[in-house]
Amino acid sequence: MLQRVSVGRWSLDAYRGIVPGEILEELHEQARALRGARVLHLNATAYGGGVSELLRSVVPLLNNVGLRCDWKVISASQEFFGATKALHNGLQGSPLQLSDADKAAYLQCSRENAGALEDGYDFVIVHDPQPAAMAQLHGKGSARWVWRCHIDTSEPNPDTWAFLRGYLAAFDAAVFTMKQFVPPDLPVGRVEEIAPAIDPLSPKNLPLSLDTCRQILDWIGIELPGRLVTQVSRFDAWKDPEGVITAYRLVRSEVPELQLALVGSMALDDPEGWDVYRQLSEHATGDPLIHLYTNLTGVSNMEVNAFQRLSEIIVQKSIREGFGLVVSESLWKGTPVVAGRAGGIPLQMPAGVGGLLVDSVEQCAEAMLKLLSDPQYSRELGSSGRARVRERFLLPRLLADELRLLADL
Ligand code: UDP
Repeated sequence: MLQRVSVGRWSLDAYRGIVPGEILEELHEQARALRGARVLHLNATAYGGGVSELLRSVVPLLNNVGLRCDWKVISASQEFFGATKALHNGLQGSPLQLSDADKAAYLQCSRENAGALEDGYDFVIVHDPQPAAMAQLHGKGSARWVWRCHIDTSEPNPDTWAFLRGYLAAFDAAVFTMKQFVPPDLPVGRVEEIAPAIDPLSPKNLPLSLDTCRQILDWIGIELPGRLVTQVSRFDAWKDPEGVITAYRLVRSEVPELQLALVGSMALDDPEGWDVYRQLSEHATGDPLIHLYTNLTGVSNMEVNAFQRLSEIIVQKSIREGFGLVVSESLWKGTPVVAGRAGGIPLQMPAGVGGLLVDSVEQCAEAMLKLLSDPQYSRELGSSGRARVRERFLLPRLLADELRLLADL
């Protein structure tokens, strides 16, 4: 029922010289108090989207610093994932309500997975709404339970929130990316604000030579040398890929040779991805300068790495966003970002750092043009962005924050 995800073995020592030393010291310090603790991370998918991206790096490093950590994903039906996407959208404020069938599918699947959950963990960290009902349905036992919410739940649809809220009372703590995301009347006593982070040593972020990047992108059909802007996102309306195409077309009237790549992953738990992909294909048909790629056509971590390094600008035109790991990933590579002023994005790009924040398609086009026409300014933004990520958004900082919470609990 619950699937254990295999992860690699990885050592914190590899981060010396990359991550500020005091952060590594702090992490070792926090880990000492928790040596031998059994931790379970529970989520809905082993691939696609930010949570699986995070856990693939978090779990090996927690094991390396002396905890005993597992990552498991729930097993679920298409009906369940249809229901949880509606739940996700509702929590982000969509007016559409959960149907009775959605609620029934959610509860049935949650019960089955809760029944399959082993005891014996000291901490169970549950990511996002998909497995959130399991704390109550399984019973807490002797573990401490943490709900790690990665999305902006500040203004949820009231019906959707009323449905989920009742299942959250079993948690000992809830963690949000920003305090502003905490929903009204959260029935959890302890609330923490911890921002996510990227792994500078994962295949997606490790250093790659520009020659290798060129070979990778040439291979998949980008015209090089050539000018390129890219958005890397799940195909999801909240990421506004159609707005990106419209903004790009405005820019093309001034930079006619500019190419656009929309790189999107299909996550197991996101059934809307294909619909959005089909709509985008229709928009892009007949335009040889717009490229659409998915993880199912071979665009994986190294390819994303190459896109984030070789694009003149990375666009992330989100309308709602949790954190937006792609922003830190791009800034870490020194590439400036044009991004929607949403969720955790301004945390990564305060004024004058990393790139430009926008509130509309027109502003997005203007910002792209500004950066395309001023390479010096672009470089400065990229390098200030990299410095900010180094200080605040690399993985060991996230681990230190999370372990501090676990030790307190
Ligand atoms: N991603 C990817 N391939 C894609 C699209 C996205 O590997 O085609 C990755 C991206 O690099 C990032 C994660 O998926 O690591 C998306 O995380 P983010 O926080 O930006 O958004 P979420 O999908 O969690 O809403």
